[in-house]
Amino acid sequence: MVAAMDQLNAPDADAVVIGGSLAGLQAALTLGRACRRVVVIDDGRPRNAPAAHVHNFLGQHGSTPAALLEAGRAALGDYDVALERDRVVRIEHAPVGDRLHVTSRDGRVWQTRAVVLATGLVDELPDVPGVPELWGRDVVACPHCHGWEVRGEPLAQLSLRGMPQRGVDRALLLSRWSSEVVLLTDGDELDAAQRERLHAAGVAVQTQRVRRLVSHDGRLRSIEFADGTPLPVRAVFVVTRQRQQTYLAQQLGCRHTEAGTAAGAVETDSAGRTSVPGVWATGTTTVPALLAIGAAGHASSVAVAIHNDLLEQDLATAAAQSRSARPQ
Ligand SMILES: Cc1cc2nc3c(=O)[nH]c(=O)nc-3n(C[C@H](O)[C@H](O)[C@H](O)COP(=O)(O)OP(=O)(O)OC[C@H]3O[C@@H](n4cnc5c(N)ncnc54)[C@H](O)[C@@H]3O)c2cc1C
Repeated sequence: MVAAMDQLNAPDADAVVIGGSLAGLQAALTLGRACRRVVVIDDGRPRNAPAAHVHNFLGQHGSTPAALLEAGRAALGDYDVALERDRVVRIEHAPVGDRLHVTSRDGRVWQTRAVVLATGLVDELPDVPGVPELWGRDVVACPHCHGWEVRGEPLAQLSLRGMPQRGVDRALLLSRWSSEVVLLTDGDELDAAQRERLHAAGVAVQTQRVRRLVSHDGRLRSIEFADGTPLPVRAVFVVTRQRQQTYLAQQLGCRHTEAGTAAGAVETDSAGRTSVPGVWATGTTTVPALLAIGAAGHASSVAVAIHNDLLEQDLATAAAQSRSARPQ
């Protein structure tokens, strides 16, 4: 259903950014500094929220995820950027013209020339008791984010059941942070080539099913295997299945990446345009592997491209107005 004009609760925005985490806030900053009117709508579920700290972010290393976003929001105060806490439930093209209407769960509607999807991903955790409680602390996914803090310690890489190669690749990566890495295949068998590479990298292999992670006072103590054997480790790295945090791109009919490590991501051209006119995507919505600073950097580039696109629209409108104002 297309929003009625009288439902519109704000003047036309040059861009409505959906998702106000690292990518969304940076997109808003770049557009705001380009004198654009921007609305950011966010429902407060950034992917790294369970983590104690953000690492590998120049100038912000060790900040909490919440503090980093709070600093980002504060930086927007000088510009024509409105921050809204709400969830977007629908985006559609206006019946006439090139505007898009963005509708929130609270029933508010914004009209804009550009929608920026910065809605991020959700991690589906391995189905092992103890993993959810420790997620973001002693159970993590990315060595580039959390490897340094546990370097040189006994570490485990938990594979995804049925997809042992993913675990092998991750364990090989992790072996550069510690010489005491064990790959837990959780019941999957490995072939000779996989074992040889792991052996060369000094990674031990345990193929038993994992029964649970044992913790005390919120800290990981050990892994418990199906036969009850414990294995004390400092941290467990896991492989997660990722999916888009919203169905908005699907609802709009945006093309998605079909295969490979970015499968399920919203497909864009190199500037950030999706297959739907007026709709852009940035951050992990479109490049799932981005670290936090990468998501922000990507968003800055996409915002520059949006600004240039809006400039062309401005010029075309001005030229049309000037033609129609000219005496015949
Ligand atoms: C546990 C964990 C720890 C991590 N630690 C690090 C680290 O130390 N260093 C590092 O570089 N990277 C880290 N990462 C990766 C980092 O979290 C991502 O790179 C970063 O969050 C990507 O930012 P984003 O803006 O693309 O998406 P997100 O941070 O996921 O933000 C998406 C935002 O969109 C909002 N949203 C979604 N749908 C809607 C909707 N329909 N309406 C309104 N709002 C919506 C969400 O609420 C959310 O705020 C970590 C990831 C995890 C899972």
